[in-house]
This record gives sequence, C-alpha cells and structure tokens, in this order.
Amino acid sequence: MSHATHPAPPDADARRSIAPVICYPVDALPQPDLDLYRSARATAEKTGEVLVPPRDARCFHVPAGHVFRISSVKGSQVGDLNLWNAADLSERFYSGKTRALHGTHLSTGDRMWSSFPALRPMATIIDDTLDWYGKDDFGGSVHDVIGTRCDPYTGNLLSGSQYHHCCHSNLTRALADETRLPLAEAEAHAHDVLNVFMCTGFSPDTGQYFMKASPVRPGDYLEFFAEIDLLGALSTCPGGDCSSEHSSDSAACHPLLVETFAPARGALEGWRPPAPNGYDRSHGRTGTARQP
Ligand SMILES: [Zn+2]
Repeated sequence: MSHATHPAPPDADARRSIAPVICYPVDALPQPDLDLYRSARATAEKTGEVLVPPRDARCFHVPAGHVFRISSVKGSQVGDLNLWNAADLSERFYSGKTRALHGTHLSTGDRMWSSFPALRPMATIIDDTLDWYGKDDFGGSVHDVIGTRCDPYTGNLLSGSQYHHCCHSNLTRALADETRLPLAEAEAHAHDVLNVFMCTGFSPDTGQYFMKASPVRPGDYLEFFAEIDLLGALSTCPGGDCSSEHSSDSAACHPLLVETFAPARGALEGWRPPAPNGYDRSHGRTGTARQP
C-alpha cells in the first residue's frame, strides 16, 4: 500500500525500469534425484496412517528415506504442516528460506529446507495431484510458503477473540501430546508452515495476502520423500477450504489423512541423508571455527 509523501525524482522511470535478477537461481542448488525417489516409491509398502480430525492436529514420524502422503479424504480442506528433525526439535522447517529458494508456492521437485545452522532439505515433494492448477487469473496458486499459520494472537489483536482451534494452537497441543513437553515449551517449537492445499496469492494492486477456496477435492494428495528422520505435525485449518475466514467454528471442516510408506530394502542403494550445512560458524571471529 502506498502513502507517498515525497515527489518522484527526475530519473524515477529509469530506476523503475531496471530489470530484476533472481536472487537464488534454482540450478545452483543440489538437485534431488527424482528418478531414484520415484523408483523407490514404486516399491514402497504402507507402514501406517493418521487421520487428523477437523480443527485439530496430529503428529507422525517418518524415517529418512521413507515417504509420506497427505490426502484430502472427505471434503475440501486445507492443512498446515510443521516438520522437525525427529532427534532435535531446534532443527525445523524454514518457510522464509524455502520461499527465497523455490518461490511462493511449492510443487513436485521443490524441497522443504530446515533452519540454521543445518539448512538442508528435510523433505522433497515427489507428487502433487494439484500441479495442473498453476497460477489463476487472480495470481493465486496452491501449497504456499507465504502465509504463517492462523493463530489466536492475531485474532485477539483484530477482534479481541479467544479462539483455541487455530492451526498454531492445534500444532502446539499435538506436539505437547507427542513429546510430553509442557504446553508453553511445545508452543515455542510451532513454526510457520507449508500451507498444504491452500490457494493464496498477493493482490496485484495493494500487495495484500489473499486466500480463496481451495481447488482440492477428495482423492487429491501431496507426497513427500523424507530426507532426514522427521517428526511432522499436520493441522486441519479451522478455515476449512479457506474460502471465507479463519479463527472461528463457522467454516465447514474435514479430516485429512497422513499415510507413511517404506521403500523396499535396497531401493535407495547409494542414497544418504543430506549432511548439515558446511559453514564453519565462526562468523568472522578467529579461533572459533567449529565443525558442523
Ligand atoms: Zn489455519
């Protein structure tokens, strides 16, 4: 939104006409071996499933090299996904860096990157039944990493409400139940999400974040290859298909299914989980370099 109070300089048009450069060319990133992941997936057998009830969240574990699938099962529903290193909750999904590396919305071949100092792929998307959607006439697309997660604090800020089934609270309860951490400690581990099946964008005139009814239908799914041992949590957003609002019980909500699959022994021959980032962490102070 513009509230300009200063006159444009004489060369304003020339400054605006400078072409942008892509910050992080994707071809500079280590590329996932999708053919290997897919051939391993073809051998995989189901190992478990968790049905996430409406307006709630559940945790699930996925060992490195296994696959998990999030499916729409009853009606159009958006899911908010958190991922942690199963052995170290301080390594968690980094939505902002993932957005900088892959763009505003994720699909097949894109990866969910972890926080500093590890900064490595946690999961790689290997299948997306909504990949046909592309970008609509409003600038909307699916599976964004631009939203945060709906939370009770913003609702309170805007309307004074006390609502307890926002994704932030759902994820907090699920993690507390899974880890036996006190609620306040678990809350500190909840983080910005991958908005699974959500359709979002920025309005071209004001640059404001918008959402619209998700195109997801029962049978649609998003499938991931776990690059490291993962603890995941998925919240069924109280916004349902996110066509109108969050932070209340007014929207129609549906469950989401999480299934896990194990590839056959030997199907990932030669593959190893990615190592943590190689930066020495000395930050310019001499004599403090550490092996990552
Ligand atoms: Zn939500």
